[in-house]
Amino acid sequence: MSENTEVVVVGGGYAGVMAANRLTQRDDVTVTLVNPRATFVERIRLHQLLGGSHAAIVDYRKVLAGGVRLVVDTVTRIDPAGRRVTLAAGGTVGYDYLVYAVGSGSADPDVPGAAEFAYPIASLEETERLRPALDATPATAEVTVVGAGPAGIETAAELAEAGRTVTLVCGGALGPYLHPRGRRAVAKRLARLGVTVLEGPGTRVTAVARDSVRLTDGRDVPSELTIWTTGFAVPDLAARSGLRTDALGRLLTDETLTSVDDARIVAAGDSAAPSDLPYRMGCQSAVQLGPQAAETVLSRMAGRRPAPVDVGFAGQCVSLGRRAGVFQFSRRNDIAVPLYLGGRPGAKLKELVCRSTVWQLGYEARKPGTRTWWVKDGRRRQLLGAGR
Ligand SMILES: Cc1cc2nc3c(=O)[nH]c(=O)nc-3n(C[C@H](O)[C@H](O)[C@H](O)COP(=O)(O)OP(=O)(O)OC[C@H]3O[C@@H](n4cnc5c(N)ncnc54)[C@H](O)[C@@H]3O)c2cc1C
Repeated sequence: MSENTEVVVVGGGYAGVMAANRLTQRDDVTVTLVNPRATFVERIRLHQLLGGSHAAIVDYRKVLAGGVRLVVDTVTRIDPAGRRVTLAAGGTVGYDYLVYAVGSGSADPDVPGAAEFAYPIASLEETERLRPALDATPATAEVTVVGAGPAGIETAAELAEAGRTVTLVCGGALGPYLHPRGRRAVAKRLARLGVTVLEGPGTRVTAVARDSVRLTDGRDVPSELTIWTTGFAVPDLAARSGLRTDALGRLLTDETLTSVDDARIVAAGDSAAPSDLPYRMGCQSAVQLGPQAAETVLSRMAGRRPAPVDVGFAGQCVSLGRRAGVFQFSRRNDIAVPLYLGGRPGAKLKELVCRSTVWQLGYEARKPGTRTWWVKDGRRRQLLGAGR
């Protein structure tokens, strides 16, 4: 091994930036971050980009440690045996350790017409494609948002607040993660904004046409613009590179976030599946997994045994336009409890969470390794012990 240890971080989202920053605490580590864009994307604000209330991007200089080399490119293949990655623009970058943090994007909609007529909103580029389509849609036209997880609820509320006529098609329950009390608060606010919420077993979308969506109960919902938010998929880079993944394509790791195939590859964020028992995809888990993946690398370098992962949750923050929100509190193990904070205080808390997330990235850049404690979630140990 050379004097310097070369670490390549693939993906400059919440997890990758946290990992890259954490690694800079050792002077003998050279960190290269590969990301397709020259700016950091606040994915949790993409519905705001659509609504026009936020740009959803941050200059990397604000969140990335000065010592990290940013390569604006896409990794097309990882060669674990040769310890190098191939870049889309050509050439390779060698590594001693690799952090796999490629995040997630929109899932391929396997519903007829969806790929053709519906617009996803999971990435910056998709949202940038959707914006002109929205602008070209008459102000009085029917807009349909499919999917009632946080991205769908937040998008529907944002557009309704901007005066759009919005139908939210849930395909099941509204906000499945939410406690019934939090769900009632969300439903109340959506009703006040004029959003038509279609929920229940008959509301799965079976087909999308240019001007409507069809539901399992046979209804045709008029829709001049359809937005698709039914869940995330992950890039297939790990599988393409011969590394084992879970059924969704997340890199399979042990509890130290180390690939089950290669001790020099660790994973973090939405694209990691520790012990085949992945955390809920979200920036809340990503900002905790990033530094822990880096700690695993640093432990290996120091000849120490890496610690098992620990991620604790506080809840789920849902913005309902700019003037209201619901913070659904949870147990540390991510199970929602009856407590929530709604209305304007909920909106303020959500805004605070978004800002503090970016602040956390910057803090790790300035003071890498300061935060060394992790919230303990005893239930994970129980689940693992029980074989699940
Ligand atoms: C509208 C919306 C609202 C959301 N709201 C919330 C919320 O309220 N709370 C919450 O917790 N989560 C929310 N999420 C989810 C959250 O944004 C993601 O779970 C989070 O971004 C995951 O972080 P990450 O670092 O794992 O990946 P990402 O943030 O997706 O970053 C991954 C990065 O890797 C890059 N990349 C991918 N492939 C390659 C490659 N081959 N080579 C190089 N780079 C690559 C990507 O371009 C990206 O920059 C929301 C998402 C959306 C779309």
